[in-house]
Amino acid sequence: MTEEEFYKKKIFDKVGINQIKQQYPNLENAIKLWYKSDRYNKIQNYKSFLTNKLKQMIEDGEDINFNSDQLYNLFQWWETTPKVCFYCTLPENFLEELHNQPGHINKRFPQRGKSLEIDRKQADLPYSNIQNLVLACYWCNNAKTDTFTEQEFLQLGQVMKRIWEIRLNRKL
Ligand SMILES: [Zn+2]
Repeated sequence: MTEEEFYKKKIFDKVGINQIKQQYPNLENAIKLWYKSDRYNKIQNYKSFLTNKLKQMIEDGEDINFNSDQLYNLFQWWETTPKVCFYCTLPENFLEELHNQPGHINKRFPQRGKSLEIDRKQADLPYSNIQNLVLACYWCNNAKTDTFTEQEFLQLGQVMKRIWEIRLNRKL
């Protein structure tokens, strides 16, 4: 068992720490260290964050049902994906600034719009198809719906990008 496999087993498969120690008696010291590591806490926090995000999406009517393996894949994807909108390239850390601009109204804020959302490039594939997932800002995700293809919406994203650059007064 590697360190990463331990995290998956403990956090995503919810196997008890004592059970894991019994299964890998020669790794007892390593397991103790892994359990107390910053990495463990980070993954635990990521998992809560993603679980809440998925819960919100399910409440919004999305059909999502991840098993622990798929959730772990989603976590790895999330961790390594740049936090910018795939379509308009808006970085996540500029969202707050856009929302705080005068005259800017989003009735669904803060439920939606304060962080990047998970979008399926091809809307007829399930969320468990991780290769099909991208991060998108609320506005791109909302406008893309199931109507536009990835290639079509990348063109619209370029237009959105120019609008954000004007509003934020900087290049993205
Ligand atoms: Zn966008």
